[in-house]
Amino acid sequence: MFKVGVIGGGAAGMMAALSASRILSAGDVVLLEKNPMLGRKILATGNGRCNFSNRGCSWKDYGGKDLSLVRHAFEHLSPAQTVELFEELGVLAREESEGRLYPYSEQASSVADALQSALEETGVVIRLEREVTGVKKPEGKFVVEWDGGFTQVESLIIATGGKAGHGFGSTGDGYGFAKSFGHSLERPLPALVRVVTESGVSDNLKGVRAKGAVSLAKEKKLVAREEGEIQFTEDGLSGICIFNLSRILGDKPSDYSIQIDLFPGFSVERLLGLLESRGSTFGNRPAKSILEGMLHSRLIPIYLELSGVDASSSTCQVDDEKLLCLARLLKCREVAVKATKGWKEAQVTVGGVKGEEVYGETLESKIVPGLFFAGEVLDVDGKCGGWNLQWAWSSGWTAGKHAALFSLQDGK
Ligand SMILES: Cc1cc2nc3c(=O)[nH]c(=O)nc-3n(C[C@H](O)[C@H](O)[C@H](O)COP(=O)(O)OP(=O)(O)OC[C@H]3O[C@@H](n4cnc5c(N)ncnc54)[C@H](O)[C@@H]3O)c2cc1C
Repeated sequence: MFKVGVIGGGAAGMMAALSASRILSAGDVVLLEKNPMLGRKILATGNGRCNFSNRGCSWKDYGGKDLSLVRHAFEHLSPAQTVELFEELGVLAREESEGRLYPYSEQASSVADALQSALEETGVVIRLEREVTGVKKPEGKFVVEWDGGFTQVESLIIATGGKAGHGFGSTGDGYGFAKSFGHSLERPLPALVRVVTESGVSDNLKGVRAKGAVSLAKEKKLVAREEGEIQFTEDGLSGICIFNLSRILGDKPSDYSIQIDLFPGFSVERLLGLLESRGSTFGNRPAKSILEGMLHSRLIPIYLELSGVDASSSTCQVDDEKLLCLARLLKCREVAVKATKGWKEAQVTVGGVKGEEVYGETLESKIVPGLFFAGEVLDVDGKCGGWNLQWAWSSGWTAGKHAALFSLQDGK
């Protein structure tokens, strides 16, 4: 019998086991992971460099119905304390643009290895290739089952992740465990994912990147706006700014459209003035010269065609009406969203175990005493840039600490 059992050896589960083991004794905490190794997804994060937190992380920036969970978790382990904790474990942080934090070694494996060493030092019992198939609490203790065996624990942490990145082991099992205890879910949906757009916008544009702003609109009303690098794909749009918008699309992405502004620093009037002056200066050059040097060469024919400019005409032949149309289009090209690339490509899950069914201070279930949740399995999601791992660390730390304290209570 163990005092604390953790299901899931990802970011949240490893942190939960570490936090519990610092309160309990060696051999009191068991960590069950279905993969043959711990922290497999961590290795893939940040393109193999692990963007493990962000200087700008605030609980207010997260998505989910009950953000008090994040507020409390940050009180237990704030982003600044996370950086200190990792330094203590041996991982020095390097800050990059927009506050993103990476291990100085530039290797995600440093983060996973440091956590694993710490778990081994504190005497956490690590069980790999242990795919949990069921959990119950028949008589005061939790029984955690897998194919061919079971173990008993006094308190249990479900840290099985969501449904995103299922190749790394997160296949939504935790939702089933939570439901078997009477919990309910905000519908899990794929997020931080590429968007498929209606016909044409990206035809033959795979590989083209442009700096700009993208706004998400629903029934002509603006819902969100992001600035950054827009990546055009074979069938839609990608890039961090698009990923961040994908969190909002919900279960009906086709209700939305994306407005692309390739000149966020210009007004339509200023842009029009610029196009007019280039049109007259370049005189007999081909029409595309108006945009050359302003726009990626593969975008130029598309924008000319959409504004009705005959590509075979010369710059001085493009009339004022067409220039105005072009200026407006460069500021706002609206494309309808068809779908997202779904679970196959999503990096995180929006939705999960309902926050209102969990005590924010401890992440303990309000339904089953001694049951805790940590990480992406809960209805909390963050934007790109280190927010999601920070939630995994802070929630893991909180759940681990309180699961350990629960197991020490008399008469629980
Ligand atoms: C490609 C990619 C890149 C990313 N990059 C970043 C980044 O740079 N920065 C950032 O902040 N976030 C990033 N994320 C998101 C971030 O990795 C996740 O939000 C975070 O890892 C979630 O941690 P978790 O521990 O809750 O879940 P997971 O990391 O998914 O871990 C869950 C663990 O539980 C195990 N498990 C599941 N079911 C069972 C079972 N039945 N029995 C036993 N074990 C089980 C799984 O095998 C897995 O190891 C990225 C995600 C992906 C997919």
